[in-house]
Amino acid sequence: HEFSDLALRYNVSQELISTVKECGYNEPTPVQRQALPCMLEDRQIFACAPTGSGKTAAFLVPILHMLGAPQGGPRALILCPTRELAHQIYREALRLSASTQLRCSVIRNLKESKVKEREATFRKSDIVISTPNRLCYLLNQDSVSVSLDKVRWLIIDEADKLFEGSSEQSSDFRQQMDQILEACGGKQKRIAMFSATHTPSVAKWCRHHMRGLINVTV
Ligand code: AMP
Repeated sequence: HEFSDLALRYNVSQELISTVKECGYNEPTPVQRQALPCMLEDRQIFACAPTGSGKTAAFLVPILHMLGAPQGGPRALILCPTRELAHQIYREALRLSASTQLRCSVIRNLKESKVKEREATFRKSDIVISTPNRLCYLLNQDSVSVSLDKVRWLIIDEADKLFEGSSEQSSDFRQQMDQILEACGGKQKRIAMFSATHTPSVAKWCRHHMRGLINVTV
C-alpha cells in the first residue's frame, strides 16, 4: 500500500493515512504518486495533470502533514479560479483534515455586514481557500485586517484557467497575484502549481516566481 509507504518514509501520521483510506483512496493516483513526495520534501512543483486526476488530495495531504498542529493565521493558501472549485476543495479539505485539529476555511461571497466575521474566521484558519478576486477584496478592505505573512505554502489550482482568462480578467488576475505574493512575504514561501495544460503564460510565471521547481507531468 503506497500511502502507507509514504507514512513510513515521511513520517506522515497513521491517522492521516487512515483518513485517506476512509475516503476510499486505496492507492495514490499518478499525480499523487509524483507530487506527494516532492511536496513532502519541501520542493516547489508545477504539476500538469488533467481535471479529475486526484490533484486536490495531491496537495492537501502533504499540506495537512506539514502544518502539524494548529496555530491560526493561515500557513497554507489555496487559490483557484472559481467559487465552485473553492467549495469543492474546501469539502475535500474538511474530509481529509478530520483526524487533525487544523482549521480550514473558504472565503465566501462577502456582504458588507459579514466582513468582520470573515476577518475573525480568517485569523483562526490554518488553511484558507479562495479565488484571487475574493482574497484581494478582503485584503483591500480598510476596516479589516487580515494577514498573509505566515503563509508558508501557496497552492495555485487550475492555473491555466486563472492565467488564460479573457485579457482584461487575466491582467486583473496578474495584479491580484502580485498583491497576494507581496502580502505573503517571507523568503521561505513555497509554491505548488497545478494545471490541466501547459500554457506559455503559466510557464513564464513559474520561471519567474518558482526557483528550482520540479515539473510533474501525468
Ligand atoms: P480531483 O482531481 O482532486 O478533483 O479528484 C477527482 C476525484 O478522484 C475525486 O472524486 C476524488 O475524491 C477522487 N480521488 C482522489 N484521489 C483518489 C485516489 N487515490 N483513489 C481514488 N479516488 C481518488
